[in-house]
Amino acid sequence: MKAYVLHDINDIRLEEVPRPRVQENEVLVKVKAAGICGSDIPRIYVNGTYSYPLIPGHEFSGVAEAAGGESGRVWIGKKVGVYPLIPCGECIPCKKKQFEMCRHYNYLGSRCAGGFAEYVAVPVWNLIELPDTVSFEEAAMLEPMAVAVHAMRQAYPKEQETVAVIGLGTIGILLTMFLREMGIRRILTVGNKEFQKEMILGQGISEEDYCDSRSFQVDEWLQDRTDGKGADVIFECVGKPETIIQAVQNTMPGGRVQFVGNPASDILMERNLYWKILRNQLTIRGSWNSSFTHDAEDDWHYVLQRLAQKRIEPKRYITQKFPFEQLEEGFHIMRDKSREYVKVEAVFA
Ligand SMILES: [Zn+2]
Ligand SMILES: [Zn+2]
Repeated sequence: MKAYVLHDINDIRLEEVPRPRVQENEVLVKVKAAGICGSDIPRIYVNGTYSYPLIPGHEFSGVAEAAGGESGRVWIGKKVGVYPLIPCGECIPCKKKQFEMCRHYNYLGSRCAGGFAEYVAVPVWNLIELPDTVSFEEAAMLEPMAVAVHAMRQAYPKEQETVAVIGLGTIGILLTMFLREMGIRRILTVGNKEFQKEMILGQGISEEDYCDSRSFQVDEWLQDRTDGKGADVIFECVGKPETIIQAVQNTMPGGRVQFVGNPASDILMERNLYWKILRNQLTIRGSWNSSFTHDAEDDWHYVLQRLAQKRIEPKRYITQKFPFEQLEEGFHIMRDKSREYVKVEAVFA
Protein backbone atom coordinates (compact mmCIF):
# COMPACT_ATOMS: atom_id res chain seq x y z
CA MET A 1 0.00 0.00 0.00
CA LYS A 2 0.99 3.65 -0.28
CA ALA A 3 1.73 5.57 2.90
CA TYR A 4 3.46 8.70 4.11
CA VAL A 5 6.29 7.43 6.22
CA LEU A 6 8.21 9.68 8.60
CA HIS A 7 11.82 8.45 8.73
CA ASP A 8 13.28 11.27 10.75
CA ILE A 9 12.56 14.91 11.53
CA ASN A 10 11.77 16.64 8.25
CA ASP A 11 12.01 13.41 6.28
CA ILE A 12 8.58 12.26 5.21
CA ARG A 13 8.21 10.13 2.08
CA LEU A 14 5.28 8.78 0.18
CA GLU A 15 6.27 5.18 -0.38
CA GLU A 16 5.14 1.64 -0.92
CA VAL A 17 4.96 -0.36 2.35
CA PRO A 18 3.34 -3.66 3.31
CA ARG A 19 -0.28 -3.50 4.43
CA PRO A 20 -0.55 -3.68 8.20
CA ARG A 21 -1.18 -7.14 9.59
CA VAL A 22 -4.29 -7.12 11.77
CA GLN A 23 -4.19 -8.66 15.21
CA GLU A 24 -6.99 -10.66 16.81
CA ASN A 25 -8.71 -7.56 18.28
CA GLU A 26 -8.24 -5.32 15.24
CA VAL A 27 -9.82 -4.52 11.90
CA LEU A 28 -8.20 -3.32 8.73
CA VAL A 29 -9.62 0.08 7.87
CA LYS A 30 -9.41 1.30 4.29
CA VAL A 31 -8.89 5.03 4.74
CA LYS A 32 -11.28 7.31 2.84
CA ALA A 33 -10.42 10.71 4.29
CA ALA A 34 -7.68 11.96 6.61
CA GLY A 35 -7.19 15.40 8.10
CA ILE A 36 -3.92 17.07 9.04
CA CYS A 37 -3.86 18.10 12.68
CA GLY A 38 -1.95 21.20 13.77
CA SER A 39 0.16 18.86 15.90
CA ASP A 40 1.23 16.84 12.84
CA ILE A 41 3.31 19.75 11.53
CA PRO A 42 5.78 19.98 14.44
CA ARG A 43 5.69 16.16 14.62
CA ILE A 44 6.81 15.89 11.01
CA TYR A 45 9.06 18.92 10.63
CA VAL A 46 10.34 20.12 14.00
CA ASN A 47 10.15 17.80 16.98
CA GLY A 48 9.84 14.37 15.44
CA THR A 49 8.18 11.48 17.20
CA TYR A 50 8.76 8.56 19.59
CA SER A 51 10.18 6.08 17.10
CA TYR A 52 10.80 5.74 13.38
CA PRO A 53 9.59 4.86 10.90
CA LEU A 54 6.09 6.17 11.65
CA ILE A 55 3.01 6.76 9.53
CA PRO A 56 1.41 9.89 11.01
CA GLY A 57 -2.25 10.92 10.84
CA HIS A 58 -4.79 10.53 13.65
CA GLU A 59 -7.87 12.18 12.13
CA PHE A 60 -9.33 9.73 9.66
CA SER A 61 -12.35 7.73 8.61
CA GLY A 62 -12.88 4.80 6.30
CA VAL A 63 -14.42 1.40 5.79
CA ALA A 64 -13.62 -1.71 7.81
CA GLU A 65 -12.43 -4.17 5.24
CA ALA A 66 -11.11 -7.18 7.11
CA ALA A 67 -11.00 -8.46 10.68
CA GLY A 68 -8.22 -10.15 12.61
CA GLY A 69 -10.63 -12.12 14.76
CA GLU A 70 -14.22 -12.74 15.81
CA SER A 71 -14.77 -9.36 17.51
CA GLY A 72 -14.01 -7.49 14.29
CA ARG A 73 -16.15 -9.54 11.96
CA VAL A 74 -19.38 -7.58 12.58
CA TRP A 75 -17.57 -4.42 11.48
CA ILE A 76 -16.69 -5.60 8.01
CA GLY A 77 -18.21 -3.34 5.35
CA LYS A 78 -19.15 -0.65 7.84
CA LYS A 79 -18.26 3.04 7.58
CA VAL A 80 -16.21 3.96 10.60
CA GLY A 81 -14.72 6.87 12.48
CA VAL A 82 -11.69 6.22 14.66
CA TYR A 83 -10.79 7.36 18.17
CA PRO A 84 -7.00 7.51 17.86
CA LEU A 85 -6.07 6.93 21.50
CA ILE A 86 -5.56 3.31 22.49
CA PRO A 87 -5.83 3.17 26.30
CA CYS A 88 -4.02 0.67 28.51
CA GLY A 89 -7.23 -0.24 30.34
CA GLU A 90 -5.33 -0.76 33.59
CA CYS A 91 -4.43 2.64 35.04
CA ILE A 92 -6.60 4.69 37.39
CA PRO A 93 -8.10 7.03 34.73
CA CYS A 94 -8.83 3.99 32.53
CA LYS A 95 -10.62 2.29 35.42
CA LYS A 96 -12.81 5.39 35.64
CA LYS A 97 -13.38 5.34 31.86
CA GLN A 98 -11.45 8.62 31.56
CA PHE A 99 -9.36 7.16 28.79
CA GLU A 100 -8.16 10.55 27.56
CA MET A 101 -6.00 10.70 30.71
CA CYS A 102 -4.59 7.18 30.36
CA ARG A 103 -1.07 6.91 31.77
CA HIS A 104 0.21 4.31 29.30
CA TYR A 105 -1.63 4.86 26.07
CA ASN A 106 -0.75 4.08 22.51
CA TYR A 107 -1.77 6.48 19.78
CA LEU A 108 -2.54 5.93 16.12
CA GLY A 109 -0.47 8.34 14.10
CA SER A 110 2.01 9.40 16.77
CA ARG A 111 3.12 6.22 18.56
CA CYS A 112 1.93 3.64 16.05
CA ALA A 113 0.90 3.68 12.40
CA GLY A 114 -1.85 6.17 11.56
CA GLY A 115 -4.07 7.42 8.80
CA PHE A 116 -1.83 8.93 6.15
CA ALA A 117 -1.93 5.57 4.43
CA GLU A 118 -4.29 3.48 2.35
CA TYR A 119 -4.89 1.10 5.25
CA VAL A 120 -4.63 1.21 9.03
CA ALA A 121 -4.93 -1.57 11.61
CA VAL A 122 -7.38 -0.25 14.23
CA PRO A 123 -8.47 -1.96 17.45
CA VAL A 124 -12.18 -2.79 17.42
CA TRP A 125 -12.51 -0.83 20.67
CA ASN A 126 -11.53 2.41 18.85
CA LEU A 127 -14.23 2.25 16.16
CA ILE A 128 -17.41 4.28 15.97
CA GLU A 129 -19.99 3.44 13.34
CA LEU A 130 -20.96 6.22 10.94
CA PRO A 131 -24.55 6.72 9.82
CA ASP A 132 -25.02 6.83 6.03
CA THR A 133 -25.82 10.53 6.20
CA VAL A 134 -22.32 11.36 7.47
CA SER A 135 -19.61 11.67 4.84
CA PHE A 136 -16.07 10.38 5.25
CA GLU A 137 -14.73 13.91 4.98
CA GLU A 138 -16.94 15.06 7.83
CA ALA A 139 -16.05 11.99 9.85
CA ALA A 140 -12.34 12.74 9.46
CA MET A 141 -13.15 15.85 11.51
CA LEU A 142 -14.71 13.91 14.39
CA GLU A 143 -11.49 14.05 16.38
CA PRO A 144 -10.89 17.82 16.34
CA MET A 145 -14.61 18.39 16.85
CA ALA A 146 -14.63 16.06 19.85
CA VAL A 147 -11.63 17.93 21.26
CA ALA A 148 -13.59 21.21 20.96
CA VAL A 149 -16.68 19.65 22.55
CA HIS A 150 -14.59 18.19 25.35
CA ALA A 151 -13.27 21.66 26.22
CA MET A 152 -16.76 23.12 25.99
CA ARG A 153 -18.21 20.52 28.33
CA GLN A 154 -15.43 20.96 30.87
CA ALA A 155 -16.67 24.53 31.37
CA TYR A 156 -20.39 23.68 31.02
CA PRO A 157 -21.50 27.16 29.78
CA LYS A 158 -25.18 28.01 30.07
CA GLU A 159 -27.34 29.71 27.45
CA GLN A 160 -27.64 33.01 29.25
CA GLU A 161 -23.96 33.29 30.10
CA THR A 162 -21.48 35.46 28.26
CA VAL A 163 -18.81 33.25 26.80
CA ALA A 164 -15.56 34.42 25.24
CA VAL A 165 -13.29 32.44 22.96
CA ILE A 166 -9.74 33.76 22.67
CA GLY A 167 -7.94 32.27 19.68
CA LEU A 168 -9.65 31.13 16.49
CA GLY A 169 -7.46 28.38 15.16
CA THR A 170 -9.14 25.13 14.15
CA ILE A 171 -10.24 24.22 17.67
CA GLY A 172 -11.40 27.77 18.47
CA ILE A 173 -13.52 27.89 15.31
CA LEU A 174 -15.03 24.45 15.96
CA LEU A 175 -15.67 25.43 19.57
CA THR A 176 -17.66 28.54 18.58
CA MET A 177 -19.64 26.33 16.18
CA PHE A 178 -20.64 24.06 19.08
CA LEU A 179 -21.32 26.97 21.43
CA ARG A 180 -23.71 28.37 18.81
CA GLU A 181 -25.33 24.99 18.36
CA MET A 182 -25.93 24.61 22.09
CA GLY A 183 -27.68 27.97 22.14
CA ILE A 184 -25.21 30.27 23.90
CA ARG A 185 -26.60 33.69 23.16
CA ARG A 186 -23.57 35.87 23.70
CA ILE A 187 -20.28 34.63 22.25
CA LEU A 188 -17.37 37.07 22.17
CA THR A 189 -14.54 36.04 19.89
CA VAL A 190 -10.95 37.16 19.60
CA GLY A 191 -8.91 36.40 16.49
CA ASN A 192 -6.16 38.00 14.46
CA LYS A 193 -6.89 37.20 10.81
CA GLU A 194 -9.40 38.48 8.26
CA PHE A 195 -10.12 34.88 7.40
CA GLN A 196 -11.05 34.05 11.00
CA LYS A 197 -13.44 36.98 11.03
CA GLU A 198 -15.14 35.62 7.90
CA MET A 199 -15.53 32.21 9.52
CA ILE A 200 -16.98 33.72 12.69
CA LEU A 201 -19.44 35.96 10.86
CA GLY A 202 -20.38 32.93 8.76
CA GLN A 203 -21.49 31.23 11.98
CA GLY A 204 -23.92 34.07 12.62
CA ILE A 205 -21.87 35.82 15.28
CA SER A 206 -22.20 39.59 14.84
CA GLU A 207 -19.34 41.82 13.81
CA GLU A 208 -19.46 43.66 17.16
CA ASP A 209 -18.71 40.40 18.89
CA TYR A 210 -15.55 39.77 16.92
CA CYS A 211 -12.33 41.43 18.08
CA ASP A 212 -9.24 41.55 15.91
CA SER A 213 -6.40 41.64 18.41
CA ARG A 214 -4.22 43.46 15.85
CA SER A 215 -6.42 46.51 15.97
CA PHE A 216 -7.97 46.39 19.45
CA GLN A 217 -6.59 46.18 22.93
CA VAL A 218 -8.18 42.87 23.92
CA ASP A 219 -8.57 43.59 27.67
CA GLU A 220 -10.33 46.86 26.96
CA TRP A 221 -12.49 45.28 24.30
CA LEU A 222 -13.60 42.42 26.55
CA GLN A 223 -14.30 44.78 29.46
CA ASP A 224 -16.21 47.11 27.19
CA ARG A 225 -18.29 44.27 25.74
CA THR A 226 -19.21 42.99 29.21
CA ASP A 227 -19.96 46.37 30.83
CA GLY A 228 -16.79 46.06 32.87
CA LYS A 229 -17.90 42.79 34.46
CA GLY A 230 -15.87 40.29 32.48
CA ALA A 231 -17.20 37.14 30.84
CA ASP A 232 -18.77 34.23 32.72
CA VAL A 233 -16.59 31.77 30.85
CA ILE A 234 -13.44 32.31 28.82
CA PHE A 235 -11.89 29.65 26.61
CA GLU A 236 -8.20 30.20 26.00
CA CYS A 237 -7.39 28.50 22.69
CA VAL A 238 -3.93 29.90 21.94
CA GLY A 239 -1.51 28.84 24.68
CA LYS A 240 0.56 32.02 24.79
CA PRO A 241 1.34 33.92 28.01
CA GLU A 242 -0.45 37.08 26.88
CA THR A 243 -3.69 35.32 25.96
CA ILE A 244 -3.62 33.23 29.13
CA ILE A 245 -3.32 36.47 31.12
CA GLN A 246 -6.17 37.99 29.09
CA ALA A 247 -8.36 35.02 29.93
CA VAL A 248 -7.74 35.29 33.69
CA GLN A 249 -7.98 39.11 33.72
CA ASN A 250 -11.31 39.25 31.94
CA THR A 251 -13.31 36.53 33.63
CA MET A 252 -15.94 37.81 36.06
CA PRO A 253 -15.90 37.02 39.80
CA GLY A 254 -16.93 33.39 40.25
CA GLY A 255 -16.35 32.69 36.57
CA ARG A 256 -14.57 29.88 34.76
CA VAL A 257 -11.39 29.95 32.75
CA GLN A 258 -11.00 27.02 30.42
CA PHE A 259 -7.48 26.35 29.15
CA VAL A 260 -7.44 24.66 25.77
CA GLY A 261 -4.45 25.94 23.78
CA ASN A 262 -1.18 24.00 23.92
CA PRO A 263 1.63 26.14 25.37
CA ALA A 264 4.33 27.43 23.07
CA SER A 265 6.65 28.43 25.92
CA ASP A 266 6.90 28.64 29.72
CA ILE A 267 4.19 30.72 31.30
CA LEU A 268 5.18 32.82 34.29
CA MET A 269 2.53 34.17 36.56
CA GLU A 270 2.76 37.58 38.18
CA ARG A 271 1.49 38.01 41.69
CA ASN A 272 -1.29 40.32 40.55
CA LEU A 273 -2.68 37.70 38.26
CA TYR A 274 -2.61 35.16 41.05
CA TRP A 275 -4.51 37.63 43.22
CA LYS A 276 -7.16 37.79 40.49
CA ILE A 277 -7.66 34.05 40.69
CA LEU A 278 -7.95 34.18 44.50
CA ARG A 279 -10.08 37.24 44.89
CA ASN A 280 -12.38 36.41 42.02
CA GLN A 281 -12.58 32.77 43.11
CA LEU A 282 -12.04 31.69 39.54
CA THR A 283 -12.33 28.11 38.49
CA ILE A 284 -9.41 27.27 36.24
CA ARG A 285 -9.70 24.07 34.35
CA GLY A 286 -7.68 22.23 31.76
CA SER A 287 -8.94 20.19 28.87
CA TRP A 288 -7.19 17.34 27.14
CA ASN A 289 -8.15 15.30 24.13
CA SER A 290 -11.73 13.98 24.16
CA SER A 291 -13.85 11.37 25.88
CA PHE A 292 -14.71 8.13 24.13
CA THR A 293 -16.39 5.53 26.28
CA HIS A 294 -18.91 3.98 23.84
CA ASP A 295 -21.68 5.64 25.86
CA ALA A 296 -24.16 7.98 24.22
CA GLU A 297 -22.89 10.78 26.47
CA ASP A 298 -19.28 10.72 25.36
CA ASP A 299 -17.85 13.54 23.21
CA TRP A 300 -17.71 11.44 20.06
CA HIS A 301 -21.36 10.47 20.22
CA TYR A 302 -22.25 14.06 21.07
CA VAL A 303 -20.58 15.20 17.85
CA LEU A 304 -21.78 12.34 15.67
CA GLN A 305 -25.37 12.82 16.73
CA ARG A 306 -25.29 16.49 15.75
CA LEU A 307 -23.53 15.67 12.52
CA ALA A 308 -26.14 13.07 11.60
CA GLN A 309 -28.93 15.57 12.38
CA LYS A 310 -27.17 18.24 10.29
CA ARG A 311 -27.14 20.59 13.25
CA ILE A 312 -23.52 21.40 12.51
CA GLU A 313 -21.77 21.86 9.17
CA PRO A 314 -18.07 21.16 9.59
CA LYS A 315 -17.67 20.77 5.82
CA ARG A 316 -17.34 24.53 5.53
CA TYR A 317 -14.13 24.29 7.48
CA ILE A 318 -12.43 21.85 5.15
CA THR A 319 -10.58 24.63 3.40
CA GLN A 320 -8.24 22.47 1.30
CA LYS A 321 -8.70 18.97 -0.07
CA PHE A 322 -5.95 17.03 -1.77
CA PRO A 323 -5.86 13.68 -3.47
CA PHE A 324 -3.88 11.41 -1.16
CA GLU A 325 -0.84 11.42 -3.47
CA GLN A 326 -0.58 15.21 -3.19
CA LEU A 327 -1.03 15.54 0.55
CA GLU A 328 2.49 16.84 1.01
CA GLU A 329 1.27 20.10 -0.46
CA GLY A 330 -1.16 20.26 2.45
CA PHE A 331 1.67 19.70 4.96
CA HIS A 332 3.55 22.56 3.32
CA ILE A 333 0.62 24.95 3.43
CA MET A 334 0.33 24.39 7.17
CA ARG A 335 4.08 24.44 7.79
CA ASP A 336 4.73 27.59 5.75
CA LYS A 337 1.35 29.18 6.48
CA SER A 338 1.36 29.99 2.78
CA ARG A 339 -2.43 29.97 2.64
CA GLU A 340 -5.27 30.43 5.11
CA TYR A 341 -6.74 27.17 6.34
CA VAL A 342 -8.97 25.66 8.99
CA LYS A 343 -8.79 21.98 8.07
CA VAL A 344 -6.69 20.40 5.35
CA GLU A 345 -7.69 16.90 4.28
CA ALA A 346 -6.52 14.09 2.07
CA VAL A 347 -9.25 12.28 0.20
CA PHE A 348 -8.91 8.88 -1.42
CA ALA A 349 -10.28 8.09 -4.84
ZN1 LIG B 1 -5.30 16.25 16.41
ZN1 LIG C 1 -4.74 3.58 31.05
